[in-house]
Amino acid sequence: MLNKTVEGRRTEAIARGVGVQTQIFADRAENSEIWDVEGRRYIDFASGIAVLNTGHRHPKVMQAVHAQLERFTHTCHQVVPYENYVALAERLNAIVPGPSEKKTIFVTTGAEALENAVKIARASTGRNAVVAFSGGFHGRTFMGMAMTGKVFPYKAGFGAMPGDVYHVPFPIEMHGVTEEASLAALERLFKADVDPARVAAIVIEPVQGEGGFYVTPKGFMRQLRDVCDRHGILLLVDEVQTGFARTGSMLAIEHYDIEPDLVTMAKSLAGGFPLAAVTGKASIMDAPSPGGLGGTYGGNPLGIAAAHAVLDVIEEEGLCDRANRLGARLKQRLEGLRAEVPEISDVRGPGFMNAVEFKDVASGTPNPGFANRVREIALAKGLILLTCGIHANVIRFLSPITIQDEVFSEALDILDTSIREARRA
Ligand code: PMP
Repeated sequence: MLNKTVEGRRTEAIARGVGVQTQIFADRAENSEIWDVEGRRYIDFASGIAVLNTGHRHPKVMQAVHAQLERFTHTCHQVVPYENYVALAERLNAIVPGPSEKKTIFVTTGAEALENAVKIARASTGRNAVVAFSGGFHGRTFMGMAMTGKVFPYKAGFGAMPGDVYHVPFPIEMHGVTEEASLAALERLFKADVDPARVAAIVIEPVQGEGGFYVTPKGFMRQLRDVCDRHGILLLVDEVQTGFARTGSMLAIEHYDIEPDLVTMAKSLAGGFPLAAVTGKASIMDAPSPGGLGGTYGGNPLGIAAAHAVLDVIEEEGLCDRANRLGARLKQRLEGLRAEVPEISDVRGPGFMNAVEFKDVASGTPNPGFANRVREIALAKGLILLTCGIHANVIRFLSPITIQDEVFSEALDILDTSIREARRA
């Protein structure tokens, strides 16, 4: 089978709205490597967009899913519940920080987790409005789109968004938005557009994912918590991309000394199986009445079994520490290139949630062309990279945290050469 042939069939059969980043078709994968249908090997620094912190087909995850396959694959938890769903909720309730008692629900996708978090916030507060940040990403459903702070390609052409969703600029100092400016915009919003007494939730990613791997400053998160407390607004922390050891702690919110009201999780929670969760303060989570939350596949037994194994692996293999070590090496390597590659405008990110940003040397403006050249050159050399950012001028690194040392070194060499070659291209 040839990639080119399947690519031809793909463009004929699949709507173009489902964009693809590579024209290689997966045949098999193991930990940090993927082999395509032509037998070519790639190092995977995308992890299916932050899903495989524990790598492709981790043996423990495979074993747990196999064991579950032999018992039952679906009953619908709302019809005949199962114990491992309860046990996983207990584990997430313990993982989400803060002194309040917690409760959890399981759904299937990140977007669905966000939808449900908003339902819960509205039911709990009796309020309607939601405040989100520009550059944030929260999914492709209608509420997810409405909360997402980027028009093209996520919202363009899709008509009216659900009402009562407001955006304020995300604080990115290097792009001229200080924390003070962002907070001032929030206060202005409360004066000009929406009474804070009508706001159910403020939603924020600890590190913006699709938006460009910009980190929410610690002081800013603290101030948001204070604003929420002052007005009775719930703080909804979206950990869909940041969760499960990526930032060097189980959840990124552990880097902040605040208790969130609601947390959404998905992606690496279940190591490649579709599972998502909302965990929050029990008093808030219990607001919707029985039957108000759920879904046929929510908390599918295979995803639940996988998630238990993922949490075990993160602990047993010390993946939080490993994320910090790998991230430090990656950032050091990128920093080392700065003298020779003036296009590099920033190297950042906690743990192993790292990114490199590129600018046009003459004008200082974002340089998406350079980021894309790096991505293309690296792909040709066998390294899968993803771009991100409102200007698409950022390369984000989402390698499995379980990546073998020698494969990691190989990937760093490819990255180094690709960035140098992008200068000449
Ligand atoms: N929130 C964040 C922070 C995300 O990164 C994503 C996916 N990129 C989503 C929500 C939506 O998740 P899903 O694609 O599983 O619906």
